[in-house]
Amino acid sequence: MPKAGMESVELFSSEGKGRGLKAVKEHCAGDVIFAERAYAAVVFDSLTHLVCHTCFKRHEKLHRCGHCKFAHYCDRTCQKNAWVNHKGECSAIKKRGKAPNENIRLAAQIMWRVEREGGGLADGSFVSIDELQNHVEHFGEEEKKELWVDVESFLEFWPPDSKQFGMQYISHILGVINCNGFTLSDQRGLQAVGVGVFPNLCLVNHDCWPNCSVIFNNGNHEAVRSLFHTQMRIELRALGKISAGQELTVSYIDFLNVSEDRQQQLKKQYYFDCTCQHCQQRIKDDLMLAVKEGAEKPSQDKVKDIIQFSKDTLEKIDKARSDGIYHEVVKLCRDCLAKQEPVLGDTNIYLLRILSILSEVLSYLQLFNEAAGYSKRMVDGYMKLYHNNNAQLGMALMRTGVTHWHAGLIEVGHEMLCKAYAILLVTHGPTHPITKDLEAMRVQSEMELRMFQQNEFMYYKMREAALQNQKIQVMPEPTNEVSHGIFQKKE
Ligand SMILES: [Zn+2]
Ligand SMILES: [Zn+2]
Ligand SMILES: [Zn+2]
Repeated sequence: MPKAGMESVELFSSEGKGRGLKAVKEHCAGDVIFAERAYAAVVFDSLTHLVCHTCFKRHEKLHRCGHCKFAHYCDRTCQKNAWVNHKGECSAIKKRGKAPNENIRLAAQIMWRVEREGGGLADGSFVSIDELQNHVEHFGEEEKKELWVDVESFLEFWPPDSKQFGMQYISHILGVINCNGFTLSDQRGLQAVGVGVFPNLCLVNHDCWPNCSVIFNNGNHEAVRSLFHTQMRIELRALGKISAGQELTVSYIDFLNVSEDRQQQLKKQYYFDCTCQHCQQRIKDDLMLAVKEGAEKPSQDKVKDIIQFSKDTLEKIDKARSDGIYHEVVKLCRDCLAKQEPVLGDTNIYLLRILSILSEVLSYLQLFNEAAGYSKRMVDGYMKLYHNNNAQLGMALMRTGVTHWHAGLIEVGHEMLCKAYAILLVTHGPTHPITKDLEAMRVQSEMELRMFQQNEFMYYKMREAALQNQKIQVMPEPTNEVSHGIFQKKE
């Protein structure tokens, strides 16, 4: 039977992969195949006072729940919407004087919902919370230990007057969160701020070269009475043409790793062996490990040395970046680049990683001219590796466009912003706040470009004014978030 909002998909058993979802009709790039609200979702421990607990937007000023003094909301609307989910948590936190960690809070949210509605199918879901995979049987010793610590904290937190669940059910829920918790980002898509469980999304299988991507939309609750009113949800969007009957796939991890490394990461985090076409035929592995062409082709040993050196440097960079020592990051990157350049090809992922960090940090330090050059080389490489509608590619093009704009390189800047916009229309959709920001930048850079072509003097005058208005934002501080993949599972 079709589920509300899920009319375009069908549950089926996918060969070698267990359950899966397939399209029942044809789709084009940018189509929302389905949207789904979270079964339950919580804000990360470190951000509980900075992000709204209902819509996960970041705000300067949030209202605090007067009872528990823990939950924070944008406004009354968000607070009211949260109450049904927050009620149990609110009194448990008040009683205990302290909130437990995010895993326990999410497990408790899920179980209060199960207490209210039963563990059966929620509205519009193909699968119930009880039926989701927990992979507890695949846990290693370390993971099992962590699970027991969590079970204990859960039991400490869970109030005696709520429905009591057995140990097995509690570990099932914690296992589900562990491998199916979807990472939620703030409204600018710049920072991971929370984690939620979306049962239908859990049914979409992985492919390293997927036909869909999933995007979190925080919703637009300010527009309650208008057409633009939307609620917080995820959207599964088609990246290209999908025919009826085709399996729908997303990528759980970033594509920019050679197939062997991707397979290893997937096995470790999600407990399966990837048999997608790109892994089996090692498609693009050669590009990702490209070596400098030409008369003085470097020896294999030399290449090996440089790759090891790059790996070591990347570790040092991570450390310096999380300590906020950006001049050290820049130095490490420049030294590494100098060693890589004579040996590695333009699409080599170790070179691209350095270019990405270097351009991001230089932009943050407002050294836009230098940053622009590196970021251009980065996206030129990305465009040869990523699917042409890959969301990460779109975001990288946006960043490159903004950097060029800041550097006064309006022609390339505008071109990059246009390319980014075309991708985000597909991966994020026209109403997503990031796409809207990008559109504003694209329109402005177009106007500037026209002016630049007509009258350079006027252009520089206008630029000064625009910079003062800060129409295009200054770069955010680089975050040290390693991409863990779409599901939250820690490595
Ligand atoms: Zn809110
Ligand atoms: Zn409260
Ligand atoms: Zn694969």
